[in-house]
Amino acid sequence: MNPFKQKRELISALKGLPQKEKLIVCPVCGAKLTKEQLAQTLYVCPACGHHYNISARYRLKTILDPKSFHEICGSLKGGNPLDFPGYEEKLQEQREKTGLREAVITGTGKIKGIKAVVCVMDNRFMMASMGTAVGEKITRACEYAVRNHLPLIIFCASGGARMQEGILSLFQMAKTSAAVSRHSEEGLLYISVLTHPTTGGVTASFASLGDIVLAEPDALIGFAGPRVIEQTIKASLPEGFQRAEYLREHGFVDAVVERKDMRDTLGLLLELHDRRHRK
Ligand SMILES: [Zn+2]
Repeated sequence: MNPFKQKRELISALKGLPQKEKLIVCPVCGAKLTKEQLAQTLYVCPACGHHYNISARYRLKTILDPKSFHEICGSLKGGNPLDFPGYEEKLQEQREKTGLREAVITGTGKIKGIKAVVCVMDNRFMMASMGTAVGEKITRACEYAVRNHLPLIIFCASGGARMQEGILSLFQMAKTSAAVSRHSEEGLLYISVLTHPTTGGVTASFASLGDIVLAEPDALIGFAGPRVIEQTIKASLPEGFQRAEYLREHGFVDAVVERKDMRDTLGLLLELHDRRHRK
């Protein structure tokens, strides 16, 4: 049989199946699971513990008290400051695909009754690269937390700088770092949660500046890619390099927390640092 016809028939047969029977293959262990099964485990493979990427909105649901989220700067979106060819079309395409205006959602919400400013990056949107809009949203979220004396939690995920915004994208590292520094000067708690993958300018700025730095299991966390480092230092890298567990062993990450325990862990940390309990 014509292989193209065979493939077309296979695709149309799969399309015809009810949604729940479509199988998702785990990229680590190969376990075949339905979407429903994965949803029950917060998109963590029950066989090997692989943490699938999840959207920012879904992440908020797994962390916050129901109906406690209020978005800030929801309408803020980036432009094309350098007139980079095709960038506006790309942004529009990403907005339609993800239903997001930019690669981060910022707002306030409650975890076990304690209010916090929460930012969640979404790597479906241009790899959650940091351009002017992402930097501005993170900065405004920090400033909101300072004005209202609130703790700050940022779920980081990023492919690095937004190359279409050139140097303006790199400025965001200094801007966001200054913003979390002002938050720190007020004696407020900032928890950074590193998810797969957190790289480039985000790692080199606010992601690494948390008072407490948590990470999801096996998340790739680094600045430059391993090949660039190997070529620079002319040595091979140790096993597990740039993974969450390796960084915990070397002091860059305070704890590796499974997705099912994240809400409880954040709730406990917020409670321990709750200013209302201080004398
Ligand atoms: Zn698996």
